[in-house]
Order: sequence, then C-alpha cells, then structure tokens
Amino acid sequence: MTVARDPGGFPVTRTPAGVARSARGARDLATLDARISGCYACPRLVAWREEVARVKRASFRDQDYWGRPVPGLGPADARIAVVGLAPAAHGGNRTGRVFTGDRSGDWIFAALWRAGLASQPTSTHIGDGLELTGVRIAAAVRCAPPDNAPTPEERDTCSPWLARELALLPDLRVVVVLGGFGWTALWPVLAAAGYRLPRPRPAFGHGAEVELEGPRGRLTLLGSYHVSQQNTFTGRLTEPMLDAVLARATELAGRSTGE
Ligand code: SF4
Repeated sequence: MTVARDPGGFPVTRTPAGVARSARGARDLATLDARISGCYACPRLVAWREEVARVKRASFRDQDYWGRPVPGLGPADARIAVVGLAPAAHGGNRTGRVFTGDRSGDWIFAALWRAGLASQPTSTHIGDGLELTGVRIAAAVRCAPPDNAPTPEERDTCSPWLARELALLPDLRVVVVLGGFGWTALWPVLAAAGYRLPRPRPAFGHGAEVELEGPRGRLTLLGSYHVSQQNTFTGRLTEPMLDAVLARATELAGRSTGE
C-alpha cells in the first residue's frame, strides 16, 4: 500500500484511529518521529501551529518555522523519560525540537546538563550540538496548542504516540512528569502498556513518587512542577527543586540496574 506523504515528505496521519494504527506499527524511534511529524489528526491544533508558523513572532521573522508536531529527543537506551505538556508556539513549533528555543527549554536542558544527562546546558536549534545521554524527553501533546491548553480530546488523540515512544525504550525505569497535565495524560498510557495502576490515582505534586509494576518490571513516576515561566518566574519551581527531582531519577535509574 502506498503511504501518502505531505510536502515535507512525512507519512500522513489524519484521524485518531490512524494515530493509533500508525503509532502501534512504528518499529523504532526514527520511524515514530517521522510519523509524528506528519500527523494532522487534530484540526484545531493543525490550524494553530500552521497559523503561528505563518505569522511568526517579530523577533523570529527571518526564520522558517517548523509548524508541525514535535517529536521526542534522546536515545533508545534511555532509562529516564521526561514528559512535558506540549510544544510552545515560538519554541518547539519554531525550532522543530522539543523544548528548544524558549525559556522552558532553557530551564530543563540546563537542569539535565547539571544532572549529567545532557552534553551542554543550552538548546537553541537543531544542529547546535546538543546530545542527551540516558534520557528521552517528549511532550504529552505534540502540537503547540492555543494558550498552552490542549483539550482532553486532543490529549487522548495524541496519546498513542507517547505510548509507543515509551514502549520503544526497553530500558525505561523512571518517568519524570512535568506538571499535572502530563501526570493525568500518562495514566491511560501506562494502563494500556500493562502497568497495574493504584486506585485512586495518586495526586500530582512536586516530588510525588509512585512505583508501578508492569510487563517490564518496575517503573517509577516522579512529579515535578512544570518548567513554565509561570512557575519559574514566580519561584514556585526553583533550580534546586528541579535538580532534586532529576537527582532522584538518576539514582532510581542507576539502582534498578545495580549501578
Ligand atoms: S496533537 Fe498529536 S494527534 Fe493531534 S495533530 Fe498533533 S501530533 Fe497529531
């Protein structure tokens, strides 16, 4: 069967059922990333991401915006996953790399660097030399939403991409969840992956820690306040707070393999 491709050469997915099918069939992260990049399943978000890419922010007027869904970043042997909310309109939606090119990214990549998980403390554009070690970073929703607020329907439509991404990390032991939206989005993903979930669901909070048992052994969820400017400007999230969560993640990831 011939797969339709968009003008960027990415295989096209247009429906929620198509997302589920296409995600399930992705055999590796490179295939998954390409399929995510060609997703058009949420009409409201497609319109928004493309409108933002067309109008641009004045300070980025000379740049070509990505204007597509933003895939995850990091190696397949990652033991830690970091899951955020969604790309920023002029961050990931501009640069094409998750958390790259905005203040939230400045925070998370600097923290990953301090934790020994990133090769450099900054992430400005594809090709800037950044490499991650032992960690994969992704968003629960892959398209920039208006007001940073995806709908529950958009969250659910997008969730098979995240489910498949986590399934393609065979050494995964810890998921650091940035913010309550990602925390909520993750439960159905983990249930579908065969993890036994506690009832009632543990509440999200900074430093929340939940151990799950599943088909691939133990997986620990760690909660952190999101690295949004709303939190970092107000001091609700400080660098030591974020560093402590990532230190706990690296401790758990190492301990699970006896290192
Ligand atoms: S939010 Fe997810 S499911 Fe919706 S169009 Fe973007 S990539 Fe596709």
